[in-house]
Amino acid sequence: MVRTIDVSRPTLRPPVPGAQRSWWLREALALEGDPSPTRALFGESTADVVIIGGGYTGMWTAWFLAERAPGTRIVLLEQDICGGGPSGRNGGFLHGWWEQLPYLARQYGTERALEAAHAADEVVDGTSAWCDQHGVDAWFVKSGYLRVNAFPKRPRDWDVELASLAELGAPGQLLGLNREEVQRVCASPAFGEGLMMPSAASIQPARLARGLRRVLLERGVTIHEGTAALRARRDGTGMVVEAPGGKVTADQVVLAVNAWIPGWPGFRTRALAWGSYMVMTEPIPGRLAELGWTNGELLSDSRFTISYFRTTRDGRIAFGAGVGAAGLGGRIGRTFTHSQAAIDRVVANFRHLLPGLADVGFEDAWGGPIDITADRFPEIGSRHGGRLHYAYGFAGNGAGPSRLAGRILAALVDKPDDPIARLAPVGQRQRILPPEPIRFIGARIVREALIREDDAHDAGRRPGPLVRLAARLPKLLGYRLGH
Ligand SMILES: Cc1cc2nc3c(=O)[nH]c(=O)nc-3n(C[C@H](O)[C@H](O)[C@H](O)COP(=O)(O)OP(=O)(O)OC[C@H]3O[C@@H](n4cnc5c(N)ncnc54)[C@H](O)[C@@H]3O)c2cc1C
Repeated sequence: MVRTIDVSRPTLRPPVPGAQRSWWLREALALEGDPSPTRALFGESTADVVIIGGGYTGMWTAWFLAERAPGTRIVLLEQDICGGGPSGRNGGFLHGWWEQLPYLARQYGTERALEAAHAADEVVDGTSAWCDQHGVDAWFVKSGYLRVNAFPKRPRDWDVELASLAELGAPGQLLGLNREEVQRVCASPAFGEGLMMPSAASIQPARLARGLRRVLLERGVTIHEGTAALRARRDGTGMVVEAPGGKVTADQVVLAVNAWIPGWPGFRTRALAWGSYMVMTEPIPGRLAELGWTNGELLSDSRFTISYFRTTRDGRIAFGAGVGAAGLGGRIGRTFTHSQAAIDRVVANFRHLLPGLADVGFEDAWGGPIDITADRFPEIGSRHGGRLHYAYGFAGNGAGPSRLAGRILAALVDKPDDPIARLAPVGQRQRILPPEPIRFIGARIVREALIREDDAHDAGRRPGPLVRLAARLPKLLGYRLGH
């Protein structure tokens, strides 16, 4: 069918990013009747545990702690509203660590790697069961996650990945799909072969975050929104967390601040914040049917600045890409929320990967930070003699693993010798990243090189030697980043 493209339609260009909360969060808040935030911290108080950060990690920690140690006095501090950060604006790709199994096996051996991957696998069905149990309709659909080769001019088989998983004792967790099979999931001339993870599910991310908040309030957790913790320090045998309006003295503190972590003393060289941006189309259920994309599969391409896309219950496409820039130090500013250049790039990727939808308009655009460690894998552990616990470094894959991190953090608080608190990655530290401003400048150069390399492959060209060198620089320096 020949379609004429009406370029005068304003929605062909998405709204300016950063002007409002994400589509997901607005939808979830509207369902709740747009409630007021909880009261900000004011004055001095005491608790058993203070959790800093009201995203999935902080809230799952509070939930598992309330479950395993009823009566624990938990205070959660969130600078915005719960779910106001990436937990309320991500792509909603929910899965564990099957793709990480070869990395885990290299680091910790096959047995411990499998143990960790199975524990991470729980997050999918565990989240679904939790939502059912608590009446949270987070649009859970378990229809798999398909990574496609978006450089069809360079055919790619996934034999190495598949053989590696089979060897490690997890055959079937990833499946190779040929081009025809990929086309049956979603028809696009830009897609080549694919790698399917059948166990993955999609969710409406903000509905999960807000559901967690509701359930925690019902369970008696004290939540202070609009409260930015300034510091957490040892005080005698306990800890004190200070915020502008007051302070809380507690036995233990959990730092669940995700991409804000490089702003905290002791964590400045542990992670790098990077921008990821998304757009939301208008409802197009008929067009999805034309593509055959009606079962809710999650899709992504296999670039470093990954494009990820999925459908919604009302027939839209939420499409994102890790095309933002790196931040400087721990500052999470407008780079992560207001970049028009990043949104233009997301739209260009959308048009490139789904050319049959060139006339489809957008109703929303937003961005947020993701946090990347040297190995692109989370760090979870304790400091200050077991009084401060942390988890960060989900690298754009935290929607699921943050639940496992919450289970682990709750165990570290309550019973550090619990087997879940001894899972392979717990307590392990990765290489430090270069200090600022070297990190900032280096990350910007590498990002540019990676984008140019991808563009060259798109055009069927071989990237120039300087671009190739810059794109490989992190690997040459021993980081698990870049191509
Ligand atoms: C655009 C985008 C798309 C993504 N897509 C996916 C996806 O599809 N699948 C996936 O698995 N992951 C995805 N991610 C990553 C995922 O959102 C995160 O890994 C996950 O939400 C991490 O949860 P968290 O609770 O650790 O962090 P967050 O949700 O960031 O929560 C941390 C909270 O701490 C608060 N905070 C920070 N500093 C302070 C302070 N000093 N005092 C008080 N509060 C503080 C912040 O306001 C924030 O709410 C995406 C991220 C982005 C930005």
